Amino acid sequence: MSVEDCLFCKIASGEIPASRVFEDDVCIAFNDISPQAPTHILIIPRQHIDSLDKAQTGDRDTLGRLLQTAADIARDRGFADDGYRVVINTNADGGQTVFHLHVHLLGGRPFIFPPG
Ligand code: AMP
Ligand code: ZN
Repeated sequence: MSVEDCLFCKIASGEIPASRVFEDDVCIAFNDISPQAPTHILIIPRQHIDSLDKAQTGDRDTLGRLLQTAADIARDRGFADDGYRVVINTNADGGQTVFHLHVHLLGGRPFIFPPG
């Protein structure tokens, strides 16, 4: 699939609407359309990266910013002390369905481990 056809690139550009909760020069965070927890936010890089599997050494700062953004949102929303789950589904066995790297931030309920 080309970057031009990428759903999350279209959300990043504004071509497709999303319920944005945060954005900066590197990341955009928006509510997942099919929430699996009281808070379910996706954090994506503006730059297209297919998956964690495709991340390069030059993407290190971007990867750090995605995780830092997840932690900041969890604190801002007040569920950091209770705890939360951060997930990066990667490739087919990892359950990835949208091939633009994204971090799931799930909070507001307990989670079991390992996930299914
Ligand atoms: P993954 O299975 O890890 O690739 O996650 C993709 C996520 O994107 C799923 O949790 C979907 O519910 C979510 N999703 C798909 N389309 C949209 C959309 N248009 N806006 C917000 N979230 C979406
Ligand atoms: Zn993309």
